[in-house]
Amino acid sequence: MLRVVVSGAAGRMGRTVVAAVCRAGDLELVGAVDRQQVGVDAGTLAGLEPVGVPLGGDLDGVLEWARPDVMVDFTGPSAVAANLHTAISHLVCPVVGTTGLSEPDLAEARRKCAEKRLGCVVAPNFALGAVLMMRLAAICAPLMPQVEVIEFHHDQKVDSPSGTAIKTAEVIAKARAGAGQGLAAGQEILPGARGAAYDGISIHSVRLPGLMAHQEVIFGGLGQTLTIRHDSISRESFVPGILLAVRKVSRLSGVVYGLENILFDSE
Ligand code: NAP
Repeated sequence: MLRVVVSGAAGRMGRTVVAAVCRAGDLELVGAVDRQQVGVDAGTLAGLEPVGVPLGGDLDGVLEWARPDVMVDFTGPSAVAANLHTAISHLVCPVVGTTGLSEPDLAEARRKCAEKRLGCVVAPNFALGAVLMMRLAAICAPLMPQVEVIEFHHDQKVDSPSGTAIKTAEVIAKARAGAGQGLAAGQEILPGARGAAYDGISIHSVRLPGLMAHQEVIFGGLGQTLTIRHDSISRESFVPGILLAVRKVSRLSGVVYGLENILFDSE
C-alpha cells in the first residue's frame, strides 16, 4: 500500500483527492493537512464515512509522524513552494497540482530532487483532455501560427492566467519557433483589452461563477479558424491523472513537469 498525505485537504480539490485515495484499494490515506477544519476527520469532510485521519495544521509535523511515501498538494500559490520544500526535506515524493509555483521555486525543487534522487510530479492540469488539447495545439502551431488562448474558470480561482494557459502558450511557442508571428497591431482603447502576452500569444482570463475549468485555443488562418476546446465539468476529471502520478512518482528521479511526461512516457 502506498501511504499518502493530502495537503489542502479541506479545499475543493483536496477533498476530491482524499475521497479518491480512500476509495483506491492500493493507496492508504495516512495524513491530511489544511489551515481550515483542523481536527475534523478527512473522510467526513470528503463526504465519506470517517476514516480516522483528523486534519492537522502543520505539514512538517504530519509528515514527521505519518511517514508517507507521497504528499499530494492542492493548496494555494502562497503555500505551495514551502510545502514542496517540506516534503522534499522529509524525502516524501511530492505530487503538486497547485498552480502559481514560480520558475525559481521550480528550479530549486529540480535541484533538490535531483540531489536526493527523489521523484516529484508537478502538473498544472491533471485532466487527460487538457493534456491532449496541448498536444493537438502543438501539432497545429507550425501550420497555423496565429493563435490566441482564452481560459475560463470559476470566480474563486486566485491566480490568472491559469497554469494550463501558460503551459499551452509555452508548448505553442516551442512548436511554432521560426514560424514568425507577433500580436496583431492596434491600439488598446482600454488597457488589457488584448489580454496578457506570452511570446506574442494573447492569453485572456474569464472568471465567473458557474464555470469550472475550460480553455479554448483559437488558431486563425486565411479564411478559416480552428478552435480546440477542453472542458473540465467536474473535479473528478482530474482524479485519474492525479492517481497515475501518485502511483508513478516514487519510481521517478527528479522533477517531472506536466502530466504528458508520465502519460506518454513509453514514447
Ligand atoms: P481551495 O478550495 O481554496 O483549497 C485550497 C485549500 O488549501 C484551502 O482549504 C486553503 O485554505 C488551504 N491552504 C491554502 N494555503 C494554505 C496553507 N498555507 N497551509 C495550509 N492550508 C492552506 O482551492 P482548490 O480549488 O482546491 O484549488 C487548489 C489549487 O489547485 C489551486 O492552485 C488551483 O489552481 C489548483 N488546481 C489544479 C488543478 C490541476 O489539475 N493541477 C486542478 C484544479 C485546481 P484557505 O481557504 O484558508 O486559503
